[in-house]
Amino acid sequence: MTKTLVMGNYTETDLAALRAEFDPVFLAGPDDLAGLREDARASITAMAYKGHAPFGADQMDMLPNLGLLANYGVGYDSIDTAAASARGVKVTNTPNVLNDDVADLAVGLLLCQGREMMQASAWARSGNWAKHGEYQLNRKVSGSTVGILGLGRIGREIADRLAAFKMDIHYYSRSEKETPGWTYHDDPIALAGAADFLIVALVGGKETEKFVSEDVIAAMGPRGVLINISRGTTVDEAALLDALEAGRIAGAGLDVFLNEPDIDPRFYALDNVVIQPHQGSGTVETRAAMGQLQRDNITAFHAGNALLTAVN
Ligand code: NAP
Repeated sequence: MTKTLVMGNYTETDLAALRAEFDPVFLAGPDDLAGLREDARASITAMAYKGHAPFGADQMDMLPNLGLLANYGVGYDSIDTAAASARGVKVTNTPNVLNDDVADLAVGLLLCQGREMMQASAWARSGNWAKHGEYQLNRKVSGSTVGILGLGRIGREIADRLAAFKMDIHYYSRSEKETPGWTYHDDPIALAGAADFLIVALVGGKETEKFVSEDVIAAMGPRGVLINISRGTTVDEAALLDALEAGRIAGAGLDVFLNEPDIDPRFYALDNVVIQPHQGSGTVETRAAMGQLQRDNITAFHAGNALLTAVN
């Protein structure tokens, strides 16, 4: 009998749906694969994966009959897709259903930075408002220039939202896109130099590692604010921390970090950084839609139908 393996930390609702549809085997993470008996591993043909731990050739080789690796999330940088293709394993992800939430969070981070909402809230809560008067003047967001690094699905949703803030939209992508008059840059350094707020919406993985380099950060200048909702890997984090600590850029709004959730403690000492715990797609509604799309791919695979959102 073929089995579906469910790996990762799922909500009770997702678990109930997975149980109802697939009668699956559950494991917490890739390290637990070795604990499954060989015949149990051999029975697995499809897998639901949720997590950021690397899943590569070694793990796939422990599942010799795996045909589908369905990822929960649009970013599949933790999965070695070349190793999957070489073994005839199809990989799927959950694009589009999370665009709105991630774009909303990016805009929220931008507003928090410009209007100093975290600091202003602390000012009121601490009693300073009553004792010392109004909070310091901050920075106008509407009408300023934003640079979107990666005008993909999420990047475009961010740009659409910020266009409504009357912002001048600049972007970098590997090729120029059809846009309503937005300014294209073929170089991330030029984009950083043009923007007040630089928002990173790139894919993660080896190809975009440290794409926001020391030079890109330097080009932002002392008024520059970096927002990152992509992956921690896309930014040279050491260079970012140095620039933030030295005041060479104004601030950052970050949902993603290297070594999550054990992020570099230097971030906690910086009051010009708004920290979010990688919660871009973390609403009840969107996570339900992501779970549904993941299950729909598995159902299609078991039925021999075309996959909905294959990436290889
Ligand atoms: P997408 O539509 O594939 O867009 C990705 C962007 O990355 C595109 O603009 C693409 O450039 C660019 N890109 C891809 N490979 C590149 C390379 N080698 N060099 C330079 N640029 C490259 O992806 P999406 O759906 O918008 O998602 C983007 C990322 O957001 C995901 O991969 C994930 O890591 C992250 N994410 C984060 C959260 C969160 O909770 N914070 C939630 C969901 C997703 P072109 O425009 O030239 O194709």
